[in-house]
Amino acid sequence: MESAQTPRPKRVAVVGTGMAGLATAHLLHQDSEKRYQVTLIEKKDQISLSAESIQIPSSDPQGQPVWADVPMRAFAGGFYNNLARMYDYLGVKYHEQPFLFSFTRVPSRQQPLSPTSCTSLLSPSSACIPGPQMVYASNFHQLPPIPRTSELLQWCMEAVYAILCYVWFTFCCFFIAPHGEDLQNGQLSESFDHYLRRVRIPEHYAENYLLPLISSVCTCSHQELLNFPASDVLEYKRRTHRQQHYVVSSGVQCVQPKLLEGVDLRLGVNLTQVVPEDQGVRIEYSTLTETEKSTISNSELFDLVVLAVSPDVAAALYPAVHAPLSAIPTTSVETIAHTDESMIQPMLQATSTPSSAGKPAAHTPASSKNAKTQRIHLLSNGTITEAVHEQSNSILVSTNPLFAVDQSKIIRSASFTRVLRSPLSRLLVNSIFQRRDGTNDTSAGKTWRNGDQGVYLAGGWCWDGMVLLEGCIVSAMRVANELGVTVPWNQRS
Ligand SMILES: Cc1cc2nc3c(=O)[nH]c(=O)nc-3n(C[C@H](O)[C@H](O)[C@H](O)COP(=O)(O)OP(=O)(O)OC[C@H]3O[C@@H](n4cnc5c(N)ncnc54)[C@H](O)[C@@H]3O)c2cc1C
Repeated sequence: MESAQTPRPKRVAVVGTGMAGLATAHLLHQDSEKRYQVTLIEKKDQISLSAESIQIPSSDPQGQPVWADVPMRAFAGGFYNNLARMYDYLGVKYHEQPFLFSFTRVPSRQQPLSPTSCTSLLSPSSACIPGPQMVYASNFHQLPPIPRTSELLQWCMEAVYAILCYVWFTFCCFFIAPHGEDLQNGQLSESFDHYLRRVRIPEHYAENYLLPLISSVCTCSHQELLNFPASDVLEYKRRTHRQQHYVVSSGVQCVQPKLLEGVDLRLGVNLTQVVPEDQGVRIEYSTLTETEKSTISNSELFDLVVLAVSPDVAAALYPAVHAPLSAIPTTSVETIAHTDESMIQPMLQATSTPSSAGKPAAHTPASSKNAKTQRIHLLSNGTITEAVHEQSNSILVSTNPLFAVDQSKIIRSASFTRVLRSPLSRLLVNSIFQRRDGTNDTSAGKTWRNGDQGVYLAGGWCWDGMVLLEGCIVSAMRVANELGVTVPWNQRS
């Protein structure tokens, strides 16, 4: 018979079905002592982690369809230790994914390459686009093909220059620390821009190679990347140096049901406010009526609320975090999945290996065990870099498109909020997640800290590093730890 003393489980609302919300809900739900009754809330009518992924029919009539993750959900050894451990614990299969990057400098709108053919870069002819000036294989896993569109001597000189600069940058990452790392003093850390100047990374290398490559990881403009704390980029480079990249073999859609098992899920619930009260945390939200013509407002009391949303959304929902979270920069990123190869013809030609010459692309099923190299074409105008990622069956995914895509060839387009970093936002985020030392707990004018008033934050941005999937898992694990829940993938040997 159940004891009358058994406390009822705490009701926890986890808001957001990105990787952070899913991982947090999973961790609290699997608590061995069953202390938490989790409700996962999402404003969209589907789980957002793989909402924009695309199912690609197999080119082999007998074969299974493959999934292209949109946005890309790749991860690398060394940096994503917790994500990889969680995947292993869930039994999610992933495989190595080598990449071949082509770097192309395209004329900016103000400086058309050929005035006759390039009057507008938003609708250019492919004649405007030169071939790539360089090709780079991730981890130097293969000898990159020499672009046939360049003079051999010029290409060799450029390659030597790029390699020398790369070696110097790598040396700096390991041996020249950024300034201002004494975060306890409330000091702002050094920006990436300042660091690059201080260690004298040549401008031509930064503009044509370093910024295009790293800004395609952070999916932001070059200037936004230059505003990052240098420590973010250096730490990422140090930890991923000579490590493999991986992707989930059947796409991240296969992760969702594993994390959701047993969790109460409510889709189409748009949170509008979070109000801490004496009895718990009240959430206000709106849902669409069955006819979807009007919305109904409602409110509900939970013991705890975890906001696994971007900082701009959390700032709008919960006044206590409005000031610090409003200072965190965000941007909007557009992705287009399409089959319009016209703009990247010179890159396709330049990066094709002799065996694939003449074929439009390296069409390799992503699920094959020994996944073949995927090509990513980086087209940079000196300010922004468009990344065109080749997937199976001639499907291309363009992120931050610089060029118009033939409308009839668009499969799907989507936009995402991307959380950026700056020395100031780093300071604010770190102070929110710093544990109180006890003496501060009762001070009158204390600033809000994670967990105060029964509200927690989780997300790719809720840690001291680049905003990627690893931050989602680290922040979900932090919520679990603070609520006394054991993280199962930490228990495994
Ligand atoms: C183009 C692109 C490419 C990327 N590539 C990679 C990569 O290769 N590797 C990698 O590690 N990372 C990558 N990232 C970053 C990574 O995808 C993000 O860091 C991560 O997905 C953030 O997850 P999250 O759970 O914190 O937030 P989100 O995924 O943003 O989830 C927030 C959720 O909250 C919901 N929500 C918002 N407001 C409300 C509301 N009012 N009520 C209810 N629900 C609400 C949203 O609908 C959403 O479901 C990429 C990002 C982009 C944009």
